[in-house]
Amino acid sequence: MEILVATHNQHKKEEIQQILGDHFKVTSLTDYDIHDEIVEDGFTFHENALIKAKYCFEKTGKPSLGDDSGLVVDALDGRPGIYSARYAGNHDFGKNIAKVLEEMEGEQNRTAYFVTVMCLVDESGVNYFEGRVYGNLTLQPSGEKGFGYDPIFIPENGEVTFAELSADEKNAISHRKKALEKFLIFLKA
Ligand code: IMP
Repeated sequence: MEILVATHNQHKKEEIQQILGDHFKVTSLTDYDIHDEIVEDGFTFHENALIKAKYCFEKTGKPSLGDDSGLVVDALDGRPGIYSARYAGNHDFGKNIAKVLEEMEGEQNRTAYFVTVMCLVDESGVNYFEGRVYGNLTLQPSGEKGFGYDPIFIPENGEVTFAELSADEKNAISHRKKALEKFLIFLKA
């Protein structure tokens, strides 16, 4: 069975292929020569995931998977949330982290979570799969690995930030992994 992932990101495609295994053929927008920038103008993770999946399904007729992820900080009323990628500067991880830390200055409650919402659109309809990883924000960045807000996030029961874990260690507990596991269970059912 083929699953078209609404991304141009080869890394994302490979991560999903690895988790879903050989029974599924994971393709991406690049494989279909679709180079449009999909406008993510939803107001929730669910809406954005749906927009991407629907776009791909309408273009190709293939079962299509859209996803949207971000960091949700309790003391910031859920920000940066759906604006995680462009909170202070478009995909400027340093600026985005600096803005979150500045807003969190003096704040005792540092709980936060990463979330991924995946949306599958196929001829049978629309289904969502959500994964979360809870944790706490640090006072300053630590670690060089990963991306995004990894240097300021320590997962629950952990001692180091996501940016100090190896890719395998992070991927084993990540929000993306949890969402994909639910997706896999759905596909197998
Ligand atoms: P996307 O929807 O997967 O492109 O994620 C949107 C934004 O959320 C990214 O640009 C990051 O800023 C943030 N984000 C999502 N997942 C992670 C993660 O695993 N670590 C750190 N930041 C993340």
